[in-house]
Amino acid sequence: NNKKINSAIKEQLNKIAHSTLLGTSNIPSILYAEMLVKKSPSSLKKVFYSDNGSTAMEVALKIAYQYSELKGLRKKKFITLKNAYHGDTIGSVSLGGIDIFHKKFKPLLFETIEIPAPYCYRCPWDKEKESCSMECLKKAEETIKEHANESVAFVMEPLIQGAAGMITHPEGYLRGIKNLCKEEGLLLILDEVATGFGRTGKLFASEGEEVEPDIMAVAKGITGGYLPLAATLTTEEIYNAFLGEYKELKTFFHGHSYTGNQLACASAIASLKLIEEEKLVDKVREKSKLLRNELEKLKSLENVGDIRQAGFMAGIEIVKDKKTKKPFPFEKRVVHNILLNARKMGVLTRPLGDVIVLVLPLSTEEDEIKMLCNVLYSSIKSFKYD
Ligand code: PMP
Repeated sequence: NNKKINSAIKEQLNKIAHSTLLGTSNIPSILYAEMLVKKSPSSLKKVFYSDNGSTAMEVALKIAYQYSELKGLRKKKFITLKNAYHGDTIGSVSLGGIDIFHKKFKPLLFETIEIPAPYCYRCPWDKEKESCSMECLKKAEETIKEHANESVAFVMEPLIQGAAGMITHPEGYLRGIKNLCKEEGLLLILDEVATGFGRTGKLFASEGEEVEPDIMAVAKGITGGYLPLAATLTTEEIYNAFLGEYKELKTFFHGHSYTGNQLACASAIASLKLIEEEKLVDKVREKSKLLRNELEKLKSLENVGDIRQAGFMAGIEIVKDKKTKKPFPFEKRVVHNILLNARKMGVLTRPLGDVIVLVLPLSTEEDEIKMLCNVLYSSIKSFKYD
């Protein structure tokens, strides 16, 4: 309930609520696209609107595929990460790698080349921090090199895989992937649907490793949590490949009825202005240190296996046995029940499997961070695990 975003929407409502972006345009969508391009990684120059994260990713993969086709490359594979989550439409489910959500639909999905995620707490190569030599990146290198001829793009959530259970990637992983894509001629598609707009302490998570993607999908935080809007950004090079004579039909045939909705774009403009004027991203970065310190206190608890954090996104992995990292039986819904306790103490958040998920609003204050962590401490500690 932010006054500035409220009044931006009301002001727009007094002009027009919606008109189609198919074959025409509208003022807020033009203004916002210009703002967004200025704030995005400098490789990205063009904006394609849709209305949620799944469609933004659907658009990303279709643009990438058609681009490769327009270039005469005959490629059709995508390289993805285990436990990836990119949305619930069939294309984005195909790119996903969370068995519980995605396996059921396998017969409907297109095949991808999946590599293990860099999940350090449960390292697929059984390495510890001291013995790690980025085997995850070596695996990515092998796979990218082996499949370069048939692969359109590498697709990933940068820095932290949210729905996977807040899996934070080791420093240098994203940069390494970008370099490999560049060397081997793959596009890099970054899904910033969850990480975008300041949540990790940068406006976009890719900024942290100074990585410039070829395609980027954004949604969620784009309107400050007000209205559904999403965008897929691309480079000038990709955009140009779609230009030609009408009869050549190079057109990207994709469009949703509410694409670039005026009210949504007006709220996105107001939200981005607010982020800038109130220096919200700097504040998130600053307050993340407090969140880190407060979460640190939970580490001593018997059932807290791992705590992972990227800015205002964090995950607390609950285990039955800290030494062996053995989880509780799935059907016991331990984390779900811990969080029902937390609700009674005034904190509402949800589990993802064995992980307590925190995605804090950008406006979260210091005392709220302390209260949140205190409640989580008490709910984890007082829970009857047997
Ligand atoms: N990608 C990521 C990384 C997400 O976290 C989500 C939403 N949880 C999506 C895509 C899909 O977005 P939406 O729910 O808006 O379709």
